[in-house]
Amino acid sequence: MAFTLPALPYAYDALEPNIDKQTMEIHHDKHHAGYVNNLNKAIAGTEYENMSLDDILKVAGKAGNAVRNNAGGHWNHTFFWEIMGPDGGGKPEGELAKAIDEAFGSFEAMKEKFNAAGAGRFGSGWAWLAVDNSGKLVVCSSPNQDNPLMDVAECACTPILGCDVWEHAYYLKYQNKRADYLNAFWNCVNWDKVAEHYKNAK
Ligand code: MN
Repeated sequence: MAFTLPALPYAYDALEPNIDKQTMEIHHDKHHAGYVNNLNKAIAGTEYENMSLDDILKVAGKAGNAVRNNAGGHWNHTFFWEIMGPDGGGKPEGELAKAIDEAFGSFEAMKEKFNAAGAGRFGSGWAWLAVDNSGKLVVCSSPNQDNPLMDVAECACTPILGCDVWEHAYYLKYQNKRADYLNAFWNCVNWDKVAEHYKNAK
């Protein structure tokens, strides 16, 4: 069973001016497509061929770098497209807003911590807002295409929000200014989707 590239759930220019159309085209049609194609190549004829993506993440550490990097790449990007949207931005509400206040003190404090995790990730990787094993919200980051669902995760937790801090995610518009991209990212967040992830993760 081969994996397939999901369509971007909105138009390529839907996140303008925060994330530009050309970046979205290349990011989805080339980078994400590449992870899907290379994942299919890496699992062909192996014990991973008929596993779900979530199950592959759980054994990523022993599956070899091609499976680990491309399974992570496919999962992370699918998740990333979904937690953004054309009517994004604003603030979380209800139970999620309360949980953020409890864990971080305030929404602004959580954003600061998340931005620091993204800006501080040396090289390529991801920043995450996630639910840990005790049900508490945490912020962490992971290198390359790893994520907190992998057996090799430094911070094992369930992501409810994530931001791609690879240069390919922002370089055309923001060049070396990763912090500016991270600030603009918040204008794209689909909080309804994040709240749904939070409810499922708890
Ligand atoms: Mn990416």
